Amino acid sequence: SEVATMMDVSVTQVISACMSLGMMVTMNQRLDAETLSIVAEEFGYEVEFTTADVEETVEEVQENPEDLETRAPIVTVMGHVDHGKTSLLDYVRKENVIAGESGGITQHIGAYGVKLDNGQKIAFLDTPGHEAFTAMRARGAQVTDIAIIVIAADDDVMPQTKEAISHAQAAGVPIIFAINKSDLPTANPEKIKEKLAAMDLLVEDWGGKIQSHDISAKTGMGVKELLEKVLLEAEILELKANPNKLAKGTVVEAFLDKGRGYVATILVQAGTLKVGDYVLAGRHSGKVKAMHDERGKEVKEAGPSTPVSILGLDGAPQAGDTFKVMEDEREAKDIAARRTQLQREQNVRTQRHITLDEIGRRIALGDFKELNIILKGDVDGSVEALTDSFQKLSTEEIQVNIIHKGVGAITESDVLLASASDAIIIGFNVRPAGNARMVADKEEIDIRTYSIIYDAINDLKDAMEGMLSPEL
Ligand code: GDP
Repeated sequence: SEVATMMDVSVTQVISACMSLGMMVTMNQRLDAETLSIVAEEFGYEVEFTTADVEETVEEVQENPEDLETRAPIVTVMGHVDHGKTSLLDYVRKENVIAGESGGITQHIGAYGVKLDNGQKIAFLDTPGHEAFTAMRARGAQVTDIAIIVIAADDDVMPQTKEAISHAQAAGVPIIFAINKSDLPTANPEKIKEKLAAMDLLVEDWGGKIQSHDISAKTGMGVKELLEKVLLEAEILELKANPNKLAKGTVVEAFLDKGRGYVATILVQAGTLKVGDYVLAGRHSGKVKAMHDERGKEVKEAGPSTPVSILGLDGAPQAGDTFKVMEDEREAKDIAARRTQLQREQNVRTQRHITLDEIGRRIALGDFKELNIILKGDVDGSVEALTDSFQKLSTEEIQVNIIHKGVGAITESDVLLASASDAIIIGFNVRPAGNARMVADKEEIDIRTYSIIYDAINDLKDAMEGMLSPEL
């Protein structure tokens, strides 16, 4: 069935192809390399077995629990524009100069680490906002452990606040609310908490489980306590990594520096990166010539949850690309070259996203249990009505999840969320705005727009009924 999905043909066709070769197979059976090649040829495909695939599968080997050590949480700050994301990041950056070390954070390298008085550490991603967060996720990287969602107490739970919440939830990342601008006389944190409660997001003071803290990113009030709550959340998550192995992690940003060559900021997620290690990062590779922390200080080693900027790559990988240390330099170069080639042949995309037409086929393959939908509409009433009707279409076999809903045009950020969460987008009396259509085409995201509620429900119902009666 996997092969069928890859070739976009039905399982039945693959099974009959095997039968014509004299092989009786079932849908879940694994085929050997030779059979795979012959069957693929029948459908006009050529099979290429790459070591990259092998290597990436082997990667998932279970870690021995004894080798794992607690690591610092990695945090992203999100929220509505002007609610104080940058101010919070700046405050933490300035105030949390590592105890006993001179010199504050001078460099912007895309991420930084802070140490609290008690010695515990937190790593912050320095590009605020859920777009950056989800763009990374769409590239397959999950870096963030905890999301701080900033809400200005003199304002309201705004559309982008709701977006940020949906994006964090879709990623399964726990949220801590920072109710900001509490220094203002017009601040009303209780109103914000009440609004959140109305959205089924109960914060602690309201008897719920979600942590929240009133802060001022301007005066610094409450920021320390907020960070303590981050550590508390991290404790619950039991974040661990094995520091004693070859490093791997994610690229945060990269650029070409005239004097120094390619500079990439990476976040080590497991293992320890050392100067002299040979690194494969996305489509690039190279030997780590030097490493610097966010204070511009040279470092020799970087363990789990540590951001460092490295010199020595032969190009600039993209944010969200994974990196790993390779034992064999030639193998690293080979994989990088093969990835470049694959990129050139980009028409053969590895990741296809769900479309309404495809739902029936995917469910017939038996691996599709949840249909994720992003719903945008012109007014609250229709969005709520459609949410209700869509959710009612859930059956025992297929769960319909509205992972994000909102009033307004379909945005690029909706498309990124769809790409990261394999969702389809349904617009009611709204259309894609700005770059949304272009990005959707590139990411192969299905956007359906309707102006009659009945049509939207019926289309989805038909698609789902296709799900329930597999064509075998
Ligand atoms: P962002 O768009 O979410 O990154 O928001 P900024 O950090 O740029 O903040 C927007 C504006 O709100 C700026 O003018 C900040 O000075 C102001 N601001 C941010 N936090 C606070 C706060 O805690 N109290 C007050 N009074 N103003 C703040």
